[in-house]
Amino acid sequence: MIGTGQRGRNMAIGTQLVAGNWKMNGLRRDGAELAHALKELVAAADGEVGCNILVCPPATLLSEVGAILAGSGIALGGQDCHPESKGAYTGDISAEMLADLGCEYVILGHSERRHGHGETDGVVRGKIAAAWRAGLAAILCVGETQGQRQAGEATEIVSAQLAGSIPDGATAASLVVAYEPVWAIGTGLTATAADVAAMHAAIRSSVPSGTRILYGGSVNSKNCHAILQLSDVDGALVGGASLNATDFWAIAQSYSVA
Ligand code: PEP
Repeated sequence: MIGTGQRGRNMAIGTQLVAGNWKMNGLRRDGAELAHALKELVAAADGEVGCNILVCPPATLLSEVGAILAGSGIALGGQDCHPESKGAYTGDISAEMLADLGCEYVILGHSERRHGHGETDGVVRGKIAAAWRAGLAAILCVGETQGQRQAGEATEIVSAQLAGSIPDGATAASLVVAYEPVWAIGTGLTATAADVAAMHAAIRSSVPSGTRILYGGSVNSKNCHAILQLSDVDGALVGGASLNATDFWAIAQSYSVA
């Protein structure tokens, strides 16, 4: 189940996805160790994994991690891309460059980019269009701040992010949505089951049928079961816990087919 192609053409609609966002972590040796460890865990499971698995290392590690994971069934993704395919954009990376490295997915609109780099819904929209142009599936991150939730605006904020960020022509194969309450990212806090279920149902009504909707925000090997069994939750986007192979694997095993 974890992959259907040489690296795992992981665009199977309706198949749950457990994705690791390594963020800006890891030198080459760390990335190689983590990739080897994951590959061994997956190989030892002998295909008995009920979800797709994706890792999104820093750009500097994509080539090496991709080479290690080739044939493992674990998919590779980027953490951002520029709207243009090439040009004078110092420090940026295009979607075509990610595809050239074997990426199948790219995370876009993560709150750390919305808040740390001033990315608007319009910018995210251009990046999603670029991802699709390059044949990548876009993982669109949406989520409210603590203040917005306390003000009762969470659903309205997320709806506006979806409306402003998703270009025309979205399909269940080209789009994954990750609901990540900003206040839950890296804090150890998680949304209540009722809030997650309600938000995922609201998102479901705004995206093409079959679109995978992930939950993200301090998911770990202890809280993952309660979150992943919720209705309309099709997997997880995992930050901190994805840096430890055993923890990340334990989250993926929530979907064990054994
Ligand atoms: C994330 O970076 O998308 C994320 C959810 O991080 P963490 O799991 O560390 O909260």
